[in-house]
Amino acid sequence: MKKLFCLLLALTLLSALPLGAAAAVPEVSRMRLLFNPWNGVSEEYVPADPVTLYSLSIRASLSAIQLDRQAAHFAKAMFTDMAADGVTDYMVVSGYRAYESQQRLFTNKINQYLGQGYGEQEARVLASSIVAVPGTSEHQSGYAMDISTSKQGGTLTNAIETSPMGQWMRANCADYGYILRYAKDKTEITGIVYEPWHFRFIGAPHAKIITERGICLEEYLALMKDQGRTVPYVDGDGISYSIRYATALPDVDLNESAVAVHAVAAEGYLVTTAQHNPLLTPLRWN
Ligand SMILES: [Zn+2]
Repeated sequence: MKKLFCLLLALTLLSALPLGAAAAVPEVSRMRLLFNPWNGVSEEYVPADPVTLYSLSIRASLSAIQLDRQAAHFAKAMFTDMAADGVTDYMVVSGYRAYESQQRLFTNKINQYLGQGYGEQEARVLASSIVAVPGTSEHQSGYAMDISTSKQGGTLTNAIETSPMGQWMRANCADYGYILRYAKDKTEITGIVYEPWHFRFIGAPHAKIITERGICLEEYLALMKDQGRTVPYVDGDGISYSIRYATALPDVDLNESAVAVHAVAAEGYLVTTAQHNPLLTPLRWN
């Protein structure tokens, strides 16, 4: 099953290829990589292709919870394999969060502090330490979800860390392109407290590299930028990748190989090329 997913992840990259040889100009993937307190998005930013988790029979606390289509399909595969490993108690309690609902959460929090007698400025600072300032929540991307369990009644607490779901996810989610986004030892870099329930879809091979190196997304992107060269990565299942950072939209030949170009944030691109080694992995589905 793992091998199948390596192939699927490679196809994630292949899907960035334009259909037909006529499309010579590379298209930037719709996936933007970085959403954090220093790289917010506008009120208008919405996922290009959201789907409800219910439509894929993923267990969610509300039928309206949505994720980006690709993130949702990999989540479906991940939860199916998790259940096959005997971990069946999970419940997605949050996915795509629109700007307006971030605004509502933020205003409610400010009002809570005002009600406790804090001044306006203080209330705002305190609120922003607990709730994301509107436009800076990774949930607006459609690539992030919060996962709880029925046992915990859908609440988000640090007990998730030791739950079977939390442990399985940390050990396996990178195989499906997901990362634990807000690690305990990275809070100063991410700007977000430790959240053992928050998982972010980032795709191959980035999720694996981030997890293997024990770094966070911000460190990974800085590393790629600082390298100033193409970084090779072999996933051990017959697919090799090369990754490089580009400051301007790169002129890559999409007809030569599988290339994905992801915008980092407001500027900068991550260019990922996948090469399938037929000697290691026959390209077939069963
Ligand atoms: Zn979250």
